[in-house]
Amino acid sequence: MQKLARSLRGDHRNAAPTPAAPAPAPLYASHRKIYPKAVRGRFRRVKWVLAAVLLATYSALPWLSWDRGPGLPDQAVLLDLDAQRFHLFGIELWPQHIYYVTGAMILAAVGLFLATALAGRVWCGYACPQTVWTDLFVLVEEWIEGDRGARIRLDNGPRTAAWFARKAAKHAVWMLIAAVTGGTAILYFIDAHGFLADLARLEASPLALGWMLFMAACTYAMAGFMREQMCRYVCPWPRFQAAMLDDESLVVTYQDWRGEGRAPLRKDRSWEARHLSGLGDCIDCGACVHVCPTGIDIRDGLQMDCISCGLCVDACDDVMRRIGRPGGLIRYDTEAAQAAKAESRTPAPYRLVRPRTIVYTLLLVIVAGMMATGLVLKPTVDVAVLRDRAPLFVTLADASVQNSYVVKISNMSHRPQTYRLAVSGIDGVTVTGPGTDALPGGALALSAEADSVQTYRIHVRSPATAVSAPSTPLSFTLTGTTDGTSLHVGTVFLAP
Ligand code: SF4
Ligand code: SF4
Repeated sequence: MQKLARSLRGDHRNAAPTPAAPAPAPLYASHRKIYPKAVRGRFRRVKWVLAAVLLATYSALPWLSWDRGPGLPDQAVLLDLDAQRFHLFGIELWPQHIYYVTGAMILAAVGLFLATALAGRVWCGYACPQTVWTDLFVLVEEWIEGDRGARIRLDNGPRTAAWFARKAAKHAVWMLIAAVTGGTAILYFIDAHGFLADLARLEASPLALGWMLFMAACTYAMAGFMREQMCRYVCPWPRFQAAMLDDESLVVTYQDWRGEGRAPLRKDRSWEARHLSGLGDCIDCGACVHVCPTGIDIRDGLQMDCISCGLCVDACDDVMRRIGRPGGLIRYDTEAAQAAKAESRTPAPYRLVRPRTIVYTLLLVIVAGMMATGLVLKPTVDVAVLRDRAPLFVTLADASVQNSYVVKISNMSHRPQTYRLAVSGIDGVTVTGPGTDALPGGALALSAEADSVQTYRIHVRSPATAVSAPSTPLSFTLTGTTDGTSLHVGTVFLAP
């Protein structure tokens, strides 16, 4: 674990202490452009399949329909800012349900902790939008400018017509992808079909267009130019991922006990002779470094910049296959297994079930269970009571005291509803309100349109003899006449 922590701090050259302290690292390093080389292999294939699924899901979700009834949006996923509603298939959340967003964020965070404890930064390497879009942009770059060597030559070569043509073509395709990405992002916030029709008629709202351009510009800059710098300097996750890892987490490792000392391959020397001379399987070809999207050398040990994408595993396996050596010189493995193998011990099998994975899984189950229960039992009505502040109270001619309140009823069902409002806590209070009907027992009937917030002004009157203190607790009870849902709101009644 200490070795892992040292590695993640960047202290991965854990050799014998050197006599002179190394010079401190400069605070600012000029950016060195990275030219990742194309690679083929199983992890690259997994990444492409996952990227295709994620991009297709992102593009298709705003176009899915969900019938919610007449007058309601039929977009399956819609964060309707105007109406202040979040629609997710059959789930509808109002602003007062903000705690579900908190729950979803906790679920996402704990899910990330669990994935990291099990398999390192797999989220970063396989599913993070920054990785997915960067992969897409690099693919376009490869198609137009060629692989790593060709791109380096192009950038260092003369500015010819061919140079301008290739750069223009690349940036045009990048901008197209960025525009589609930005446009799709907007569709999660407005009616997708309506926005497309407005766009075609050149009548789209400037606000929507502004956000679309902003999202497109972010995509273009982050996937086209910033790339690994987003992970290195902007994203906070690499900073605290070390706390989620232990010696039994799967991380991308270089088997230095097998690979060192590294030296180029000599065809006139057998592998036995090479090993007897103290050399290992690493032929120092640099393939693992050239394919790395963050430009690091995994042979230096596990580093904060490693996003666990596995591309160096594919590159090295390919090299090993071509030189007739077993694959896995770079592999997903645990630090504990690496230590055991280095000491020629048999490593313990990988353990999915460990104290921290149990804790994370339990947390996931508990939070998910609480959210599911909350969603099932979510009431379809909410009520807020605000007492008038000016005047605080009114003394009437018959010496009774009146307080006024604003009652806001949120009818979250898709049908008009009628509610019974009763007031309790003070003997002899009467309650009236414009636009309401009196019910037996001194209560009021209040109605609310479907899917709307209805506001009533309610006057509560009490005999002066019933309120002996300047402030008396008062309770409003709202009961649904169809489903019997009952909500209580406490407030106070003020008197001289
Ligand atoms: S790809 Fe494999 S053989 Fe080549 S430098 Fe990297 S670890 Fe060594
Ligand atoms: S070192 Fe390997 S796993 Fe880590 S980011 Fe580079 S290519 Fe991906």
